[in-house]
Amino acid sequence: MLDLNSQLRNIHGVGKSIASRLKKIGLETIEDLLFYFPFRYEDYSRQAKISELQTGTNVNIVGAIELIHNKKSPRKRISITEAIISDQTDQMKIIWFNQPFISKNLKPGDMVSLSGKVEQDYTGIIMKSPNYEKITNNQSLHTQGLIPMYHLTANITQKQIRFLIKQIIHLSSLLTDWLPKETIRRQGLLSLKEAIWNIHFPKNFSDTEQAKKRLAFNELFLIQLRSQIIKNDIAGKTAESIKFKEKETQEFVKNLPFQLTDDQKKASWQVLQDMEKEKSMSRLLQGDVGSGKTIVAVIAMLNTALNKKQSVLMVPTEILAGQHFNSVCKILKNFNLKIGLISRTAKMANFDIKSEKKKDIPRKIAEGAQIIIGTHALIQEKIKFKNLALTIVDEQHRFGVAQRKTITEKSGNNKTTPHLLSMTATPIPRSLALALFGDLSVSVINEMPKGRKPIITSIITETNRAQAYEFIKKEIKAGRQAFVICPLIDISDNLGVKSVKEEYEKLDKNIFPDLKINMLHGKLKAEEKNEIMEKFLQNKTNILVSTSVIEVGVDMPNATIMLIEGADRFGLAQLHQFRGRVGRSNIQSYCFLSSDNNGQKTLDRLHSMVKYNSGFDLAKIDLKFRGPGEIYGIAQTGFPELQIASIFDYPLIETVDTEVKTIIDKLDKYPFLQEKIKKFQEEAHFE
Ligand code: ADP
Ligand code: MG
Repeated sequence: MLDLNSQLRNIHGVGKSIASRLKKIGLETIEDLLFYFPFRYEDYSRQAKISELQTGTNVNIVGAIELIHNKKSPRKRISITEAIISDQTDQMKIIWFNQPFISKNLKPGDMVSLSGKVEQDYTGIIMKSPNYEKITNNQSLHTQGLIPMYHLTANITQKQIRFLIKQIIHLSSLLTDWLPKETIRRQGLLSLKEAIWNIHFPKNFSDTEQAKKRLAFNELFLIQLRSQIIKNDIAGKTAESIKFKEKETQEFVKNLPFQLTDDQKKASWQVLQDMEKEKSMSRLLQGDVGSGKTIVAVIAMLNTALNKKQSVLMVPTEILAGQHFNSVCKILKNFNLKIGLISRTAKMANFDIKSEKKKDIPRKIAEGAQIIIGTHALIQEKIKFKNLALTIVDEQHRFGVAQRKTITEKSGNNKTTPHLLSMTATPIPRSLALALFGDLSVSVINEMPKGRKPIITSIITETNRAQAYEFIKKEIKAGRQAFVICPLIDISDNLGVKSVKEEYEKLDKNIFPDLKINMLHGKLKAEEKNEIMEKFLQNKTNILVSTSVIEVGVDMPNATIMLIEGADRFGLAQLHQFRGRVGRSNIQSYCFLSSDNNGQKTLDRLHSMVKYNSGFDLAKIDLKFRGPGEIYGIAQTGFPELQIASIFDYPLIETVDTEVKTIIDKLDKYPFLQEKIKKFQEEAHFE
């Protein structure tokens, strides 16, 4: 008997190799698969008559096969399957490429359902490589109605995934619906089971909308409930008062290689004022990419250190941790502080730990350093700080409240809570910020450092690609550097997607044989990554080909070109983050977007990158591009927990907030919910 925890290989039709391919996209159990949502639907709900077909439209037709045979194309050795289909109104030609087995599956006289795009050639209207399905007893899974489309890995087809889900969808009745009944009733939501059913097999767009609403509600509800619980926990605790060390701070600011902008001064001032209080600070620092948030963090950490207390700076990636460590050490070198890096390569500046055993280093750092920089290794390791008074979280909101609690438990005393400063480039709407952080103050850096020029963005097509390469060559000859971003690592990852390795070889061998090129991706060891970044920073490499690992935060002021391959695969927020890796000095910078998909909608979306330079504008526009057939398509930087819900859905965020506040005082009435939220909190800690 199958249940929710059964391994997928126990399903009929799933062998070892399919199971391992499913595992690649994180699918191991039946429950995983039930929660593997399609990202959009193709609408084949209108069955069309052949006589009325119009070129360029997506349609579903049902007809009988009159004729079907294979042949080879004249020059290239491609196999072509040709068929003639007829319905009551007319007949038309269908061709498939390189799928000779189709003529074995379909025989003259068979009824088939076909879905695809209508095209025109010299013989009249045709369909090329449509999805097909033999119709037996009038049932169709792949070609009629709303057809869900899933993100896939190599060698798994949409058909296979739909076929698998079809087999297990009835098990959704075993799901525990953890949302309080009263909430479901008040908000008119679907039950969890209905929502799961409708997201995979909707009859119409009203089904998908309702399913989306319930599933989005789930996501926001858990996040907002978690914040509320933690907020209640923390309330009432006091914080260390950090005195503003005016003289040293002014000295520090005076010695910077640049002048602080007014917004940076104001934000620093607000932070310092908050930290003087014995009530713990909860402040969000918002500023677009490149606006100079780091220096505000450094000023806060410097003051904490001068008060003989510790601070930590948590960042989302190893690369960023390494980079912050190096730059903070450099910028604070006159103060003779002990600064530590805790990531997979624990390090310490200004402090002799060579004599220590390797595994003791993180502990030593946590006890001895005044400023500690790290990834979430910081909270996972069994380390305790000595007297932590300030926690700064860079570029990732999911840290924030939940991690604050964990880190509080390691702060070295139970009486005080560290001050919290969260920094983000994502324009989090105020209602969400409040729901996430509770009593929170916001500082905003609107003004870019003086002399910055807006980045010039353009779209690359096959016709001007060579020109773009020439341009890059010229810039590099003038001493600049370039990033090239590709969506995935292996060629096998997906059809037609440029991969880092492939792209690296191409650029290295064919396009820029006399330039120094390097590549970077998440599968490299931490030391290798650091070395590659260090070389790039010192301009020993001209071009860095990378996956999205460099998306956030990385600061390489001499890089002025960002070329993004497969740009259609990224959300606007993410593209904006990539673009923010250049334009970090006074030198004119450029961003080139290349896309394999030249559909009008994709081009329109990419054109908004050309038109807008601000993250806030782009975030809003991203939403507009989500049509009714789309569930989620944008990566909302920093909110991995939100697959379906949008951070701009103010009404839903507010509704959820009300519901959370209604039930939070009677949680013990809802054991399923208690269990769920407990699991959710644990997951956040171990991500
Ligand atoms: P972000 O807000 O994206 O985190 P950073 O703090 O990394 O931005 O700053 C981006 C770059 O701008 C860094 O190289 C930093 O040294 C530089 N910078 C910061 N503030 C100023 C300023 N006031 N004037 C000139 N350059 C600055
Ligand atoms: Mg930053």
